[in-house]
Amino acid sequence: AQHLFNDPAEIEALRGNLLAWYDKCKRSLPWRTLAATEPDPDRRAYAVWVSEVMLQQTQVATVMDYYNRWMQKWPTLQALAQASLEEVNKLWAGLGYYSRGKRLQEAARKVVSELAGQMPRTAEDLQKLLPGVGRYTAGAIASISYGQATGVVDGNVIRVLCRLRCIGADSSSPAVIDWLWDMANALVDRSRPGDFNQALMELGATVCVPKAPLCRDCPVKQHCRAQLRKLLGKPAPVPDVEDCGLGGCPLCPPATEPWDSSLGVTNFPRKAAKKQPRTVRTATCVLERGGCHGAPEYLIVQRPSTGLLAGLWEFPSFPLAQGLQEEKQRKVLADHLQTWMGQPVTAEDLQFIGEVIHIFSHIHQTYVVYSLPVDGDVTLDPASSPSRWVTEEEFCASAVSTAMKKVL
Ligand code: SF4
Repeated sequence: AQHLFNDPAEIEALRGNLLAWYDKCKRSLPWRTLAATEPDPDRRAYAVWVSEVMLQQTQVATVMDYYNRWMQKWPTLQALAQASLEEVNKLWAGLGYYSRGKRLQEAARKVVSELAGQMPRTAEDLQKLLPGVGRYTAGAIASISYGQATGVVDGNVIRVLCRLRCIGADSSSPAVIDWLWDMANALVDRSRPGDFNQALMELGATVCVPKAPLCRDCPVKQHCRAQLRKLLGKPAPVPDVEDCGLGGCPLCPPATEPWDSSLGVTNFPRKAAKKQPRTVRTATCVLERGGCHGAPEYLIVQRPSTGLLAGLWEFPSFPLAQGLQEEKQRKVLADHLQTWMGQPVTAEDLQFIGEVIHIFSHIHQTYVVYSLPVDGDVTLDPASSPSRWVTEEEFCASAVSTAMKKVL
């Protein structure tokens, strides 16, 4: 019982309190302004879709500038469908998780070429028909743009709901996620679903934050069972709230990790320990030559069109086995370059510059950086990836990752 919302009067009160708070306290964000002022639902859906994709794994403050530039360049789905992947990657450079931009553009092309330019209008169809649109993004677009009464569950919503209903089982487990989706769908306000969903996410982003939630200012504190438990110092003895932790409840904290009173409401949510990121070492060589106006130029090559950093440009890079000595690394890189360039390169030609560490979500990447001065052009194996010489300025304006900027 303690994990449920089963009182219709309480649900109504929670909706009212949350929406009143949202109307008063919401942050002014460009995608909200667009969604609120755009009369065409499909254009509204596009504006919401772009923002939701950019906001995945990325802070609001970082997204704002990218979002504004994106919407200026491609104000409609039709405009985006005509863009090249190179242009998309260039605008996305520095935002991370590059496949997001690529998939967004592929989906825009699909809407234009296969769906007669019409966005699907329900969460179910959005998820089914658009590549890269998952359950969360589909729910956000459908509720905010088309007024469908469907819930959303993202990291912020998980935290708020787990606290409201004392859910202490692993919040990334499928059983808990399903439970939270059911709860979000049951709670969503029927007349203002988009605002309700945004309000719940806004609460998680600004009040019910991970480490030090502002419970005193919280508009739904009277509905919060984590808060009640903290105040009482023990499971709530009120009639409709039972402690179900003793009976192997799949939503309570595991018996091995019971409620910790020093944590208060931050006992919830809980996650299984994260998998350690994979460690990868890569030798990267900055080939440099004197350009026609005296400024140095650097050779960059394009990565394959699939996989990590797909289609982005980088300095020639080759994987290294773990545990190699510096001398051996240099030799491996020289051999790779020699094959690739079809001209002699010795280990002594390479100057070791240093190491650059970059953390991707699942990879702990070390670039071991060397430089190699060359005269004139180099003739690359025609079967290898596209390449070009760029000045520093051109390099920074190209579709290159943040890691490569660090390398330079
Ligand atoms: Fe979160 Fe505190 Fe509000 Fe509960 S009372 S929902 S823990 S901010």
